[in-house]
Amino acid sequence: MSTIAENVQKIREQISDAAINRGADPGLIRLVAASKTKSASEIQKAIAAGVDAVGENRQQEMSGKLLQGAYEGAPLHFIGHLQRNKVNKIVGVCQLIESVSSVALLTQIGNRATSMGIVQDILIECNIAGEDSKSGIMAEELPMLFDTASQTPGIMVRGLMAIPPIATEKAGNRPYFARMYELFVDIMSKKYDNVRMDFLSMGMSADFIDAICEGSNMIRLGTAIFGTRD
Ligand SMILES: *Cc1c(COP(=O)(O)O)cnc(C)c1O
Repeated sequence: MSTIAENVQKIREQISDAAINRGADPGLIRLVAASKTKSASEIQKAIAAGVDAVGENRQQEMSGKLLQGAYEGAPLHFIGHLQRNKVNKIVGVCQLIESVSSVALLTQIGNRATSMGIVQDILIECNIAGEDSKSGIMAEELPMLFDTASQTPGIMVRGLMAIPPIATEKAGNRPYFARMYELFVDIMSKKYDNVRMDFLSMGMSADFIDAICEGSNMIRLGTAIFGTRD
């Protein structure tokens, strides 16, 4: 079995190849370690190996591991399904909340951040394949959500995030990734207030190369870094 450090090094090489294929600068692709179920010591190994950030899915698990110092040395992202009653424990703790998908959440995050005297960076999660089972806002509703964001104090939208379906064939998700890139560029061109379209977060262990080839600049990898989850 290869070590976390070896895995990260191999992933960096794959990122580099995919970025060059795209004509993008490999140094601008952020590698986020998706660390659900992983221990503080495994997370520390990933940070030592040079991942750019760590992403957690569940607030309770995250708060516990925070107390153990699991994330020291790297920015912390929240990448999981966001429940409104957990917002207060995430705002100001995570540098980037990647999974914001409704006006209600946007407003609540903005209120909390304002009361703390900070501006919270967020991504808007888009349900790009229109799946019933997934959170994320439908692509058609993005203009409405960005209009709201432009008038919401306390937040800065830094880009988009998506989790397409598990591909059943090779490169099966490329059309979804390509569509996300179009939406990303389109929103960028509109120059909304409170919006700086820096990050397009898409691509997981099984499809990150395709995602980068279609314009992703932030990938979230669990299995490829840590091995299979228990
Ligand atoms: C678990 C998870 C990932 C990483 O999944 P892998 O397939 O293990 O790379 C990425 N994004 C989110 C939101 C996740 O929950």
